[in-house]
Amino acid sequence: MKQPRFDLDLDKHCNATVVIACGNCGSETRQHLRSLQPDHTLRCRCGADISLGAGALQRAQQQVAHLRVAYRQ
Ligand SMILES: [Zn+2]
Repeated sequence: MKQPRFDLDLDKHCNATVVIACGNCGSETRQHLRSLQPDHTLRCRCGADISLGAGALQRAQQQVAHLRVAYRQ
């Protein structure tokens, strides 16, 4: 399955939310990074399945680690 595009949002408590763009309709599904499991399937409102593989999830976690360092400065 093609890996979807995703963005990351950090709130003021540095809790990360992953914003995943549906490859089918382009609408965004938000999910707390902490509650995302590799290859766990989310359902977009258009009915398409969205999932992030282990590699994408790892990239997301690395990006969040960098963002947290940047936030502290
Ligand atoms: Zn969709």
